[in-house]
Amino acid sequence: MKALLELASEKGEPAMELGIPDDIRHDYAGQCWWCGSVADTREHRYKRSDLIRDFGKGTWLGESAVSRVLAGVKTDIRGSKSENLKFERNICGACNNTLSEVISATFTRSCRVRNA
Ligand SMILES: [Zn+2]
Repeated sequence: MKALLELASEKGEPAMELGIPDDIRHDYAGQCWWCGSVADTREHRYKRSDLIRDFGKGTWLGESAVSRVLAGVKTDIRGSKSENLKFERNICGACNNTLSEVISATFTRSCRVRNA
């Protein structure tokens, strides 16, 4: 079985919660973190094309099963579109689907150069 692993503290806080002082945390209160519109979509925690590259397109079961382990809790993931692989609603559709594509493509190109 392959697994996606995330770091967590001994207290079980998700890795993203670690080391962020309370005085710089910000509650976007349902607004897109990028443009301030209504946050109506969920962003992938992991780049979806990376997930497909590493684990394949098909349903992740049996020999190709994938689990996400967070603070010692294992969650089976069935595919790259799983809601368990996304943040809560934190970005609007325009930013998630259009603006982020430019950054995503740039990230992919930089990875190819770095790994060449
Ligand atoms: Zn937006």
